[in-house]
Amino acid sequence: MALRMSSLFVRTQKEDPVGAEVASHRLLHRAGYIRRSAPGIYTWLPLGLKVLSKIEAIVRDEMARAGSQEVHFPSLLPADPYKASGRWEAYGSDIFTLTDRKDNDYLLAPTHEEVFTLLVKDLYSSYKDLPLSIYQIQTKYRDEARPRAGLLRGREFIMKDAYSFDIDDAGLDASYEAMRVAYLRTFARLGLPCLPIKATPGAMGGAGTEEFIYPSEVGEDTFVRSPGGYAANVEAVTSIVPDPIPFDDAPAAHVEDTPDTPTIETLVAAANANHPRPDREWTAADTLKNVVCAVTHPDGTREIVVIGLPGDREVDLDRAAGTGALGIGEVEIEPATEADLAAHPELVKGYIGPGLSPETQVLGLEGTSGLRFLLDPRVVDGTRWITGANEPGKHVFDLVAGRDFVADGTIEAAQVMVGDPAPDGSGPLELARGVEIGQIFKLGRRYAEALDLKVLDANGKATTVTMGSYGIGVTRIMACIAEEYHDGDSLVWPQHLAPADVHIIAAGKGSDIGEAAEALTADLEAAGVTVLLDDRVKVSPGFKFADAELIGIPTVIVVGRGLADGTVELRNRLTGEQQEIAVAEVVATTVERVRAAYARADAAGDAAVSGTAPAPADLAAV
Ligand code: ATP
Ligand code: MG
Repeated sequence: MALRMSSLFVRTQKEDPVGAEVASHRLLHRAGYIRRSAPGIYTWLPLGLKVLSKIEAIVRDEMARAGSQEVHFPSLLPADPYKASGRWEAYGSDIFTLTDRKDNDYLLAPTHEEVFTLLVKDLYSSYKDLPLSIYQIQTKYRDEARPRAGLLRGREFIMKDAYSFDIDDAGLDASYEAMRVAYLRTFARLGLPCLPIKATPGAMGGAGTEEFIYPSEVGEDTFVRSPGGYAANVEAVTSIVPDPIPFDDAPAAHVEDTPDTPTIETLVAAANANHPRPDREWTAADTLKNVVCAVTHPDGTREIVVIGLPGDREVDLDRAAGTGALGIGEVEIEPATEADLAAHPELVKGYIGPGLSPETQVLGLEGTSGLRFLLDPRVVDGTRWITGANEPGKHVFDLVAGRDFVADGTIEAAQVMVGDPAPDGSGPLELARGVEIGQIFKLGRRYAEALDLKVLDANGKATTVTMGSYGIGVTRIMACIAEEYHDGDSLVWPQHLAPADVHIIAAGKGSDIGEAAEALTADLEAAGVTVLLDDRVKVSPGFKFADAELIGIPTVIVVGRGLADGTVELRNRLTGEQQEIAVAEVVATTVERVRAAYARADAAGDAAVSGTAPAPADLAAV
C-alpha cells in the first residue's frame, strides 16, 4: 500500500530541535522521522520506522548469510547473571537498575553476553552442538553520562548483538572471521564507508577485537591511520621499540644541581645553560619523566604506580588503562593525589627518578619505594637519560637504562603523536575522528567460566566453551547514514534505504493531475516499487516540494503542468538530474532505476569482501 501524505502521521518541522549539534539529529527531527521523548530517548514515527526496518533487513540478511540465527531476549532482566559476571559492579551507574515488588534487583540490559551464555548452557551439552551463532536485534539501555547528537549516542538504542560459541580457539577464530566478513558486507550494502580498526578489549576482557569506524568529524572516537592502510584505536597503537644500544663506553651517571627545575621545560633550559651537550642541544626527548599514578583494581584495591616515559610526551591515561599492563580486568587510573605523594616521601615531586644504581634504586624491581615502575617501551637498554635524582633541585645525567636502573615492566602509556611511525611500518600516523558503528570481540572463556558454560568434548570431558560477541549500533547507523547522505538542508537517502522508493507529488489543482498521480502510484506499486504519494488537496505545490526535500526520498516524480503534453518530471536528488519524461515511459524507467539501485547495494556487499568496496557516491548514484 502506498503511503499518502494526506494521511501519513508526519509533521515536518521548520525549527531545529533543541541542542542539535549534528546534521543527522537536526534533519531526522525536521523531516519527521523521530521525536525526542527524554534526553537520549526517542520516539519513532512511521517514516523513521521504514528506514530503520530497511537497515535491519540488511543486517538480518547478512547475519543469516554468516550462519547466525535470530532469537529475542527481554530487555528487562534479573541482576543475578550480571552480578555473577562482575558487570553489575563494573557498569556501575551506566546501567539502569530497578527492583521488583519482591525487592529483587533487575536491570534494563546494556548488552546481553550473560543471558546468551545461560541460554546455551540451558539447552546444549555436547561439542556436537557447536559451533553455534545466535543474535538478536534489540533495544538496549545505557545511562550514558553524555547522551548526545540524537541517535548517535542514545540512552535507549537498538543494537544487533550476536554471540558465537565454539569448543576451541580455532573454532572461535573461524566464527570471528565469519562475523568480520558479515560486517564488511553489511556496511558496504548500507553505503557507509567504514574502517575496521584494531582496538583494546576494555571492560569486556578477552582476546582480539576490532571496531568498525565510520570516519566522520561528528564522531567521538579518535583513531590513527597511516598512508599504508594501518588503522587503530589510539589505545591499541603499539610503539616501535628500538634495538638496545651498547653502553660499555657510556659515561658514568652524575648528579648535577638543577635548582628550580620542576618541569621539563625548566629542566631542558637549565641543562642547556649549565650542562651543555657538545654535539647538540638537549631536548625534552632526552629527559625521562616519571609520573605517579593511582590505579584502582577491579577488587577495589588502590595501587600507586610510577610510569617513566620520554619527557616530550604526555601520559595518556586511557591508553595506560587499556593496555592490560596495569592488571587484569577493568582498572581505573588517575593522577596520584597530594595525599598519595605524602605517603611516599621518597618521591620528591618534580625530581622523581629511578635512582642511581640497581643497588640504591628508588623505583623498579622492589626499589626502596616498593612501588611498581613501568617504562615506556622506547626506554630500551642503553638509552641515556636526564632524570630526577630524588632530591629537590637535583637531576642525574647520563643515567643509562639497563645499567643504572631496571623497571618492573613496560607500558604503552605515552600519548600517540601525529607523525609517529605506524607499528607495521606503513608510514607516519595521522589522527582522525569517527563513529564506532560496530565491534567484534573474541571474548574467549571469560563469560563461560563465570557462568559455568561447559560441554562434553569428543573424549567425554567437560570443557569450557569459548565465545565471541559482535555488536552493531543499528540506530546509530541510521544517524551515520543521515550524516553521510544529506545536502546540508535536507536528507537525501541512498535509493535503497529511502522510506519509499519514489515520492510522487501531485502538483496542481486539476482532477486530471490527481488521477494521473494515482494511476502512476498504482502502476509503480504493482511493479513492486513503493510509493509515497503527496495527494494533499489544499496544500500548495511549493509546500509539497519543501516537504519532499526534507523527507529525502531521492527519486521524485512531479505530476503537474506537463501532463497536458503527456509528460511528468522525474528528479534524481542524488545526482541533481531533472528530466521531462513521457507518462508512458516513466513507470518502466523508474522501476529499472530502483531495481538497479538495490542491485548495486547488493553488489557493494559482494565487492566489500573482495576488498574493492565502491565509494559511497557510486552506491548512491541512480
Ligand atoms: P561507545 O564507545 O560509543 O560508547 P561501546 O563500545 O560502549 O560504544 P559496544 O558495547 O561495543 O559499544 O556496543 C556495540 C555497538 O552498539 C557499538 O559499536 C555502537 O555502534 C552501538 N552503541 C553503543 N552505545 C550506543 C549508544 N549509546 N547509542 C547508540 N548506539 C550505541
Ligand atoms: Mg564498542
